[in-house]
Amino acid sequence: LSERLSGVFDRLTKQGALSEDDVRTAMREVRVALLEADVSLPVARDFIKAVEKKATGAAVTKSVTPGQQVIKIVHDELVHVLSGDEDPGRLKIDNPPAPVLMVGLQGGGKTTTTAKIAKRLKEREGKKVLMASLDVNRPAAMEQLAILGTQIGVDTLPIVKGEDPVAIAKRAKTQASLGGYDVYLLDTAGRLSIDDELMAQVAAVRDVANPRETLLVVDGLTGQDAVTTAENFDARIGITGVVLTRMDGDGRGGAALSMRAITGKPIRFVGLGEKMDALETFEPARIAGRILGMGDIVALVERAQETLEAEQAERMMKRFQKGQFNMNDLKAQLDQMMRMGGMKGMMGMMPGMAKMQKQLDDAGFDDMVIRRQIALINSMTKKERANPDLMQASRKKRVAAGAGQEVSDINKLLKMHRQMADAMKKMGKMGAKGLMRGGLG
Ligand code: GDP
Ligand code: MG
Repeated sequence: LSERLSGVFDRLTKQGALSEDDVRTAMREVRVALLEADVSLPVARDFIKAVEKKATGAAVTKSVTPGQQVIKIVHDELVHVLSGDEDPGRLKIDNPPAPVLMVGLQGGGKTTTTAKIAKRLKEREGKKVLMASLDVNRPAAMEQLAILGTQIGVDTLPIVKGEDPVAIAKRAKTQASLGGYDVYLLDTAGRLSIDDELMAQVAAVRDVANPRETLLVVDGLTGQDAVTTAENFDARIGITGVVLTRMDGDGRGGAALSMRAITGKPIRFVGLGEKMDALETFEPARIAGRILGMGDIVALVERAQETLEAEQAERMMKRFQKGQFNMNDLKAQLDQMMRMGGMKGMMGMMPGMAKMQKQLDDAGFDDMVIRRQIALINSMTKKERANPDLMQASRKKRVAAGAGQEVSDINKLLKMHRQMADAMKKMGKMGAKGLMRGGLG
């Protein structure tokens, strides 16, 4: 509800709007930041176009510069684009035993990530996990997974010499069923680059394993190459998510944005080191800050907005306490109602208004009425809005005519305003603090 509350005061915090020039100037910096962060050119271009449209005309908070405001908007849009799944860390592994296929190029961090995820599933979700290495090309790779398994206390499928990956996948499935495992992770072999043999092998494994999740593990430091890898694997194997490794390095995370934009697949985890605990659920805000490298600006704008909202809220409460509630206040409420999808949502929020709901329903008070009332207030002068008592016969006629309505309509509006002003006065007596807590907060 606090979000809604701040929405009420949103319109009061507007100090000015971003001009096309403000936006264009700031966007130049953003473009550089994106490209430096290794976001691919077409993705950066599309992104900037979308943000430019959003930012032009947007409100600028007092005490920050237009440029800073643009950065905040860019940041929020980045977070929006990067956010895939609601809960990226939760793998879809119902119906045990659930197969999870790990794919990617050699050296990307597949084996390490397989063990990290196994540990996480075991510790956080209490799953019984089996891991199997399908890397028949390199016996050392199989050993590596077995060693990690011992280290984290997760079972690995016993190694049988001379088996092919498909046979291993089948054996893992059998073992997982017989052993009562919740999930089994298949760590496939990688290559140094994408080739048909690799893809054919992974596809064959996929066909027998029928994985619930296919996670692509890519090195986050490889930037553009990571995006190409993701595109290829998604086209030929079909992936359900991405794990970006080596994000503890100095890569700036632009690959994350490109990958999201190009494959549309969610980024699930990021690897932050070689240790088994160095795996985190993907957090869009963190990567967005990293891509822009402007985290402090974003925080500054957020703080400025919060302060301003608090100041405005306090000022408004003080006025209510004194029994001041003019047509501007009423219009603010009506605008807010419309933004919140009309009458109903608003009612529960305002003490004093709940009682009026039945009355309003009976009077056929719907969203069209709200729109007409806003039109009436719009056709009042500044003076009249600040002091509705001025509204005598001739003024009523003028205002009604200006809004294409009848004098009876303006009478209804004035009556409603009086009722609300009374309700506000009562609320004011309850004390602003009590109101925030008990009513709006
Ligand atoms: P695979 O060939 O895809 O199975 O890759 P590996 O799991 O064997 O990893 C290759 C190397 O990268 C190993 O030395 C890992 O310890 C290291 N590694 C994996 N993930 C990360 C990570 O998130 N951060 C860092 N710094 N190193 C990682
Ligand atoms: Mg490996």
